[in-house]
Amino acid sequence: MKKKRKFDLHTFVAGDALESGDAFPVHCNCSGIITVFSPFEEEFVVCPKCESRIGIHILDGDPGYIFGANPATGEPILIPVQGSSEQKLNLSPKERERLLAEARKRFSEKKK
Ligand SMILES: [Zn+2]
Repeated sequence: MKKKRKFDLHTFVAGDALESGDAFPVHCNCSGIITVFSPFEEEFVVCPKCESRIGIHILDGDPGYIFGANPATGEPILIPVQGSSEQKLNLSPKERERLLAEARKRFSEKKK
C-alpha cells in the first residue's frame, strides 16, 4: 500500500518557541506528543502514537494564529500556531470574530 502523500498532517510552530533552546512538544491530532529540540531542522516528525507523519512549518516570531480555509466550506478559520505565547493564543470570542470577519473580507476581495 504505497501512497504518494508526503505528510499526513501539518502543524505550525512559532519560531520564538524553538529559539529558546528548550524541548518543544508538538501536539498531534490524536493527542500524541512528539518532543523536538531546537535547532529544529527536520521537515517532519512521526507521531509515536498514531504514526502520522506531521509536516512542521516554522513561522517567524510569535504569530499566535494563522488563517486557513475550511476545506469543506472555504470559510476562513483560525489555526493556532503551536508554541505561541498564551497572550497571543488567548483570544476573546469577540477578538476571534473580529479576525475572522477581517479574513472573510480579504478572502472575498481575492475572489473578485
Ligand atoms: Zn498522532
